[in-house]
Amino acid sequence: MDNIEEICSICHQPVLTEFYFCPNCGNNLRERPKPISILTQIGLYILAIFLPPLGLWPGIKYLAKKGKQAKWVGSITIVLTLISSVIVTWSIFNLFNSYLSQLEGVLY
Ligand SMILES: [Zn+2]
Repeated sequence: MDNIEEICSICHQPVLTEFYFCPNCGNNLRERPKPISILTQIGLYILAIFLPPLGLWPGIKYLAKKGKQAKWVGSITIVLTLISSVIVTWSIFNLFNSYLSQLEGVLY
């Protein structure tokens, strides 16, 4: 019974912390987390994929929010950011390597 942490302000019944409404009197206990629009999600994922370091901050912000959807969106954004960062780092490394070998070809 560790889930019962709150007391309804109207009827003083114990309520589960994950409830948005009091099951006893229907009192609105807290704001339901707003659903994240598809457009916002797509924007976040595009940001994460094309501008890797910038996706990390909104990702963490969403992960810290309440609600399953926000946590999912945050996790996906962070994962995409990490994958994209690895690809970008790898590409730069490869580019640098090929530049170095070209330089060696010129020097020697
Ligand atoms: Zn109540």
